[in-house]
Amino acid sequence: MSAVILDGKALGLRIEAHLAERVSALKDSGVEPHLAVVLAGDDPASHVYVRNKQRACERCGIKSTRIDLPNDVSQEDLMQVVANLNSDDSVHGILVQSPTPDGTDELAITEAIDPSKDVDGFHPTNLGRLVMGQTDGLLPCTPAGVMKMIEDAAIDLSGKKAVVIGRSRIVGMPLALLLAQKGIDATVTIAHSRTQDIAEICRSADLVVAAIGRPATVQADWIKPGATVIDVGINRVADDSRESGSRLAGDVDPAVKEVAGHMTPVPGGVGPMTISMLMSNTVRAAEMRLA
Ligand code: NAP
Repeated sequence: MSAVILDGKALGLRIEAHLAERVSALKDSGVEPHLAVVLAGDDPASHVYVRNKQRACERCGIKSTRIDLPNDVSQEDLMQVVANLNSDDSVHGILVQSPTPDGTDELAITEAIDPSKDVDGFHPTNLGRLVMGQTDGLLPCTPAGVMKMIEDAAIDLSGKKAVVIGRSRIVGMPLALLLAQKGIDATVTIAHSRTQDIAEICRSADLVVAAIGRPATVQADWIKPGATVIDVGINRVADDSRESGSRLAGDVDPAVKEVAGHMTPVPGGVGPMTISMLMSNTVRAAEMRLA
């Protein structure tokens, strides 16, 4: 058996086409959705991510403004940039690209963003709403993208066992909450680096999500035949056959696709969905302001 591959790029483009219609409706009401992206420092991967986000804005008709700051920006200056964007009524979404430079406090910056403009969905107010079962607000983009892929593939998780490997504040933990919410109704186990017998735990699961950051961690013999496997990981690994000498790889061994029922690819799976969910949050933030 070979798994059905869940194409995040295609689904993301479909979602963005719908968003473009909502953006048009907003513009007809005199509102131009506007995302401000703050990029501090010269991390090459961050520059690629920001460029991809700006391209997605163009596809959806969302205005984007990029604010470049030097690698040695002070915490005080970064906080001032956020404060200015908070008070700018033309801005609906604020994203400070992670990681922020050494010596800056990323959590404090996240907390400084107005929760109604927190399109990353990382502000404690928005994460708190999620804990309270309110899932109609600004959700963290990667977990929301995973949920959309599961919904689009019509995978019913009610009463099923899900294992989320990884407990980060941006992926694993919020995703576990979304999977356990009323209406989805999965029974969720959160695994992490201290979990014992992780392969055995995964073998009983109907859904395994890998959000680890270590290439090819999840092996084919961890997976129950027919289970859904979502690979959130993005790892750069050496590959001499490429001109660049490297390629992107997920947290799941490619051999898993011979066992799983559904599986996401890397690249082209959760990554593009994350960007589409950022667009969705920006449109939602603009609509919420209008409401
Ligand atoms: P993170 O903050 O480093 O968290 C990684 C989690 O994996 C931690 O909870 C850690 O456990 C756990 N872990 C590490 N080694 C493990 C092992 N051997 N067995 C079981 N669990 C282990 O990473 P993150 O920000 O959540 O990101 C995870 C991955 O997803 C990375 O590859 C990242 O690049 C990728 N990512 C992709 C997207 C996307 O759009 N596709 C978005 C965000 C992140 P402890 O808590 O015990 O340390």
